[in-house]
Amino acid sequence: MLQKVNDISPSKLLTRQALDNYDAGAESWQKQFQRRYTHHSELKGVLNQIEDVNETVYAKFSMSITPYMAKLMDRDDPNCPLRLQYLPSFHEETKPEFATLLDQLGEEGDTIEGTSVVHRYPRRVLFLVSNTCATLCRFCTRKRMVSQPDGTVAKDEIEASIDYIANNEQIQDVLLSGGDPLTFSDERLDYILGELRRRAPHVRFLRIGSRMVVQLPTRVTPELCAVLEKHKVQMVNIHINHPKEITPLLRERVKMIQKAGVMMGLQTVCLKGVNDDVEVMRDLFMQSIEMGVRPYYVYSTDMVEGAHHFVVPHHRMIQLYEGLRGWISGPAVPTFIVDGLGGLGKLPIIPQYVKEELLDDGDGTTVKCRNYAGKTVEMPGLGVHFRVPSKSN
Ligand code: SF4
Repeated sequence: MLQKVNDISPSKLLTRQALDNYDAGAESWQKQFQRRYTHHSELKGVLNQIEDVNETVYAKFSMSITPYMAKLMDRDDPNCPLRLQYLPSFHEETKPEFATLLDQLGEEGDTIEGTSVVHRYPRRVLFLVSNTCATLCRFCTRKRMVSQPDGTVAKDEIEASIDYIANNEQIQDVLLSGGDPLTFSDERLDYILGELRRRAPHVRFLRIGSRMVVQLPTRVTPELCAVLEKHKVQMVNIHINHPKEITPLLRERVKMIQKAGVMMGLQTVCLKGVNDDVEVMRDLFMQSIEMGVRPYYVYSTDMVEGAHHFVVPHHRMIQLYEGLRGWISGPAVPTFIVDGLGGLGKLPIIPQYVKEELLDDGDGTTVKCRNYAGKTVEMPGLGVHFRVPSKSN
């Protein structure tokens, strides 16, 4: 059982001096979990220029920051990309002009009753196994559930979820998420993965989404990797939004997961002020691919309450994509996604590189193409009226 956020003793919190000397790689993840800062006032003296926010902000969404993450934050700059992601801000007290929701993705509507399984696509499901994370992101799309202090999903709900997956043979792909599945002990994770493999042999692809690998890399231990290997987890998707989150300790632990035979992918959320910059994204995705972690999705910020100040307009996302395609390695370019309101699902944001136009040839067989650098060419034969000529006789 995890420590409740509000039970964390102030004496366990690190002062600035202690943080400067702190070796996160040498302390167990459980101890670090207990040292999380859970109120902005606790960071005064640790970081300068801490913004005071109203207590009402905490009623909507808790704060939780691991000492490892606090140490990565810029001591003086309130616009540090890590501080923006994790520290509460006055923006959360303001109302945007557009509507925000608690469940923009409409996940509750697609959740199977009595379970924590979201079944939206025919052959794959999202299995929400945990209600908490090591460090809480202010833009979280699941604010409605991850701010829970004890981080547990009821055991009978977990059992009902495994039953549901076991009884539906069309399900081939299961993504364990939350919250963060790695907030569990190895034993609990071992049990859930083992039961899934035993009771649902039709599941072909088992993957885990985790940001804890990034927020608290010591969570990745040889024991955890043995569990992943034992149950043949095929993929672990991590979530990084800025190159500052990539450290030698993270690289070391990523390698441990890879040695267990697990593919790794990267998810990123496009956040105003944090990473809505071509150079930042180029660096992030190249560092990721260097680690052998394939950039997978860049999501637009969801319209959840208190996250409106992070939203990057659609046209800017297209510009960012165009700043990647052709400019960095192809496998390092992720798909940009907007999650459709109310459960429409993932909608790719794709700039137009090939345009079908009725050109001077008049018969509509030519398309106009442009490359990443804006150079254009007309390609005859690819257009809508293209036909393979039949044999004349
Ligand atoms: S790690 Fe993911 S689920 Fe957890 S708070 Fe951040 S965005 Fe939400």
